[in-house]
Amino acid sequence: MDADIPYLLLTPGPLTTTRTVREAMLADYSTWDVDYNQRVVEIRERLVQLAASTPGYTSVLMQGSGTFAVEATLGSVIPPYGKLLLISNGAYGDRIGQIADCLNIPRVTLAYAETELPDLDQIRKALADDESITHVALVHCETTTGMLNPAREVGQLVAEAGRDYILDAMSSFGGIPLSMEEFHIDYLISSANKCIQGVPGFGFVIANQQKLEQTAGFARSLSLDLYDQWKEMEQKGGKWRYTSPTHVVNAFLQALNELDAEGGIAARHARYVENQETLVREMEQRGLRTLLPRELQSPIITSFYYPEWAGFSFNRLYDELKRRRYVIYPGKISQAETFRIGNIGHVFPDDLRQLVEQIGLVLDEMQVTFEQTTSG
Ligand SMILES: *Cc1c(COP(=O)(O)O)cnc(C)c1O
Repeated sequence: MDADIPYLLLTPGPLTTTRTVREAMLADYSTWDVDYNQRVVEIRERLVQLAASTPGYTSVLMQGSGTFAVEATLGSVIPPYGKLLLISNGAYGDRIGQIADCLNIPRVTLAYAETELPDLDQIRKALADDESITHVALVHCETTTGMLNPAREVGQLVAEAGRDYILDAMSSFGGIPLSMEEFHIDYLISSANKCIQGVPGFGFVIANQQKLEQTAGFARSLSLDLYDQWKEMEQKGGKWRYTSPTHVVNAFLQALNELDAEGGIAARHARYVENQETLVREMEQRGLRTLLPRELQSPIITSFYYPEWAGFSFNRLYDELKRRRYVIYPGKISQAETFRIGNIGHVFPDDLRQLVEQIGLVLDEMQVTFEQTTSG
């Protein structure tokens, strides 16, 4: 761990970034100036290159956290007569449903347990049974548990049924290889502070350009109008409509350069896989169990059951680890007591080995003090 950071973030983002990404924020830029706008143009092109290998795709950046980009997409690309099929097995899927409800977008929901994969036959049937469904939404890596959903298989069904496909790839894009073409994605949503390893401040959408071009006038919001933002960026050489997070954008360009320097998405994916496997192996050696079986698990974030002995306190574990300069994440699921450890960001297998060593020490201490207080 670098000496100049207060602690290592083992979270799903914001995450630990490099010093050079943070240093890229030391310059002030004008949103009207060509130096800044050219960076925006470059970022938009490079995002498309990361996701697609054929022409016909474009990208839009949107101020705010990832949820703002999800809301901008749902509210802007689904027509007034549209209807959403939502497939959800976690809190981020449920959030898409909340957004649709806020925006009065009719929806059908296929809801699954947090530890359960979506059922492809049910999805096929839902699409066949209801011709008024125009769009399908799915979360790729469900950060709630760390589950990797079958985004490619669902995309295949959506394409066969002739509907449009919205993928929340917030916590996977940049860290897990994917392809707009192979996954049949029409709108891919992610944000600056996840696997690209930038800092928080904007989200982005990579879109099928022909489809996006047909969405003019659909937006249910002024500031979150995805089409209007896209048109401004296209026509005015990288200008955003309203004040943009200039420092964050500059840091993001640096983060894209560092992604390339690492060897691109394939190399980053390999590091994340090694991080995650190291974490699980070391945790299991200390008797801690993962919520999900290996085959459902993403290389992004892992949920662990609380240890089964009395006297375990997550808050105490959290505080003790933070004192030792590691920040982990609470659980988010309703069915079991869990906590989560992320392994994305500027984080390496050695960091995870050291983290688990500290976890082992803290748990040992916790058990000893518990036994002393109960026996004494
Ligand atoms: C992080 C994340 C989001 C967006 O969350 P924000 O807090 O708004 O940045 C959305 N979906 C998934 C799957 C995520 O991991």
